[in-house]
Amino acid sequence: MIVHACHCRQCQRVTGSAFVMNALVEKTQVEILSGEVSTHRFPDTRHTAFFCPECVTYVWSEYGGRFKDCLFVRVGTLDEPDRLPPSVHIFTQSKQPWVVIPEDVPSFDRFYPIYDVWDKSSIARMGADWNPVNPK
Ligand SMILES: [Zn+2]
Repeated sequence: MIVHACHCRQCQRVTGSAFVMNALVEKTQVEILSGEVSTHRFPDTRHTAFFCPECVTYVWSEYGGRFKDCLFVRVGTLDEPDRLPPSVHIFTQSKQPWVVIPEDVPSFDRFYPIYDVWDKSSIARMGADWNPVNPK
């Protein structure tokens, strides 16, 4: 649907880095080919992390709410991560000062207006009932 580079403090903490790269993918398009995933629910949030129990690689997150039908897949875990550069940089209010965001990529202090940023085709794929502004 879209690729977030999130510069929020929680993403900095859980990656031990400057930002995380999340590709939002419909749950119906993700298949576990072998093994299982372990989970960790962050207290007082809707954020659940999914890990490979063997190598402890953090493979995706779920956030519920307006994104309940999507997984936030860690781009660096993909076979071809170069194919998914950031579509948008978010929570740049806590961006590390040495990170330079390209001028042609949208960036926002916090979150962003989905209808202004997502491709129309991605919005359509979420279904006619999807309301990202006032999620159920
Ligand atoms: Zn974040």
